Amino acid sequence: MPEINPTEPSNFIEQIITEDIKQGKNQGKVHTRFPPEPNGYLHIGHAKSICLNFGLAQKFGGKCNLRFDDTNPVKEEQEYIDAIMRDVRWLGFDWEDRLFHASDYFEQLCAWAEKLIQDGKAYVCDLSAEDVRLTRGTLTQPGKESPFRIRSVEENLDLFRRMKAGEFPDGSHTLRAKIDMAAPNLNLRDPVLYRILRATHPRTGDQWCIYPMYDWAHGQSDSIEGITHSICTLEFEDHRPLYDWFVEQLGIHHPQQIEFARLNLSYTVMSKRKLLQLVRDGRVSGWDDPRMPTLSGLRRRGYTPEAIRNFTERIGLAKRASVVDVAFLEHCLREDQNQPAPRRMAVLRPLKVVIENYPEGQVEQMEAINNPEDPSAGMRLLPFSRELYIERDDFREEPPPKFFRLAVGREVRLRYGYIIKCERVIKDATTGEVIELRCTYDPTPLAQITRKVKSTLHWVSAQAAVNAEVRLYDHLFTQEDPEDVPEGEDWTAGLNPNSLEILTGCKLEPILAEAESGYHCQFERQGYFCADLDSKPGRPVFNRSVGLKDEWGRLEKKQGAGG
Ligand code: ATP
Ligand code: MG
Repeated sequence: MPEINPTEPSNFIEQIITEDIKQGKNQGKVHTRFPPEPNGYLHIGHAKSICLNFGLAQKFGGKCNLRFDDTNPVKEEQEYIDAIMRDVRWLGFDWEDRLFHASDYFEQLCAWAEKLIQDGKAYVCDLSAEDVRLTRGTLTQPGKESPFRIRSVEENLDLFRRMKAGEFPDGSHTLRAKIDMAAPNLNLRDPVLYRILRATHPRTGDQWCIYPMYDWAHGQSDSIEGITHSICTLEFEDHRPLYDWFVEQLGIHHPQQIEFARLNLSYTVMSKRKLLQLVRDGRVSGWDDPRMPTLSGLRRRGYTPEAIRNFTERIGLAKRASVVDVAFLEHCLREDQNQPAPRRMAVLRPLKVVIENYPEGQVEQMEAINNPEDPSAGMRLLPFSRELYIERDDFREEPPPKFFRLAVGREVRLRYGYIIKCERVIKDATTGEVIELRCTYDPTPLAQITRKVKSTLHWVSAQAAVNAEVRLYDHLFTQEDPEDVPEGEDWTAGLNPNSLEILTGCKLEPILAEAESGYHCQFERQGYFCADLDSKPGRPVFNRSVGLKDEWGRLEKKQGAGG
């Protein structure tokens, strides 16, 4: 990784900010915010935004607020608010005393709405939501002015106050900005500022029956908080003229909106609406299902905050929409885990081995290296005994060419153990399945073996093994871009039916018996794993966070080598 010079801008937003500081804009201050709507859990796309906003504040000695854009009580819940705060903290960021809510500003926003009315720049409209939509026009055709556009300031003020006082039914009136129904930008065609909606708000309860629209709340909230750079995703580019119009009309501090491309990941969906549907329909076990791209899902899967922060940094910042290969996210996790993860032995699909010439009842404690990447991690003891488990897949009755692992008449090395030779197999009388291998061992210590033995297998002593459940994951969707489904078609049809494989009866080395949820390690030859929330003392449950095969690293090396 190249060293990043903290004074050198590393993306276009940093360039803008560096320039602003040079020009003395905002007295050289930098103040950003992360503004989630609490209508779902945060996902990896949000992590990009969080790292960006908090990261810019850190880099330029500024501040970053956490603000909930809680303007739509129909979809917002306390559960989401709590989860969002937990996830931002987990990622490693601190908003200190700067936790805000758009709902903190409801009174101020109302007062500003009245100011617009007084200035003849807003009016109460009796058109239904449907009619507002129908009269809006299209990209090629201007909209139609509302018949209520000509109401007097007095009438508008009176009606707006009565809307607020609860005199009208839901949906019967809106407050709209009076801008230009022929504006080429549809967002400027008299956008709605307020709607009447009787819904209990997680924070303000039933105090309000009118709620501000997102566009009306967002920029003004930024302004109130003294935000200097209001960073958002590209779909708000067309809203920027409206953002600017509001703060200009009100004559208040004018934050600068800057857009960047949202992060998309291959083989998953990222829209909260779709993620919510997966949760509600039971297609996943919850928001924190390890297959979900949510931060809680990734955490449960075994991702660390460092791996995610590193990922969001390294994908860079784009102005154009793109899809990042999920293999790169996995690559970042492997990189993160390679150094610290202790190495452990785990047999996921066990096949019993009986070493006929090993004394019954004898147990030897074999020294095993905890982490070849970290000598300070030391050694541990692994019990070796007459009965062991190896991976079913490490034995073949009829070994194909290039299969150098165990077969009848062949030798393999058991890591930290001995060389064993398979003498014969025992089969299930009815199914014919191989259920046990009868082997012999060479008591010569491994270090003194001079003959060539091609394969080294991992193993677990049968007597000492801890029974465990292990969950293996694959992509949530089978197609690379599951968002790319025509309107009206069932986007869930692309869900991968094999995204979760549950293995019971796995055999782990004894040290893993008490693994607490969140414990990370590498199972030798299998990947990086993390103990799941469902683990109980003596009965661990592990998630495979990521396998060892690094598709991304392989490609990178190939490209680096010019191949
Ligand atoms: P969704 O479309 O999934 O509901 P959203 O943009 O409505 O997402 P918000 O809670 O409003 O969700 O997002 C909070 C912040 O995170 C916004 O500034 C938004 O631009 C940013 N954000 C959301 N999704 C992504 C993404 N995929 N990549 C980068 N930033 C994102
Ligand atoms: Mg949003």
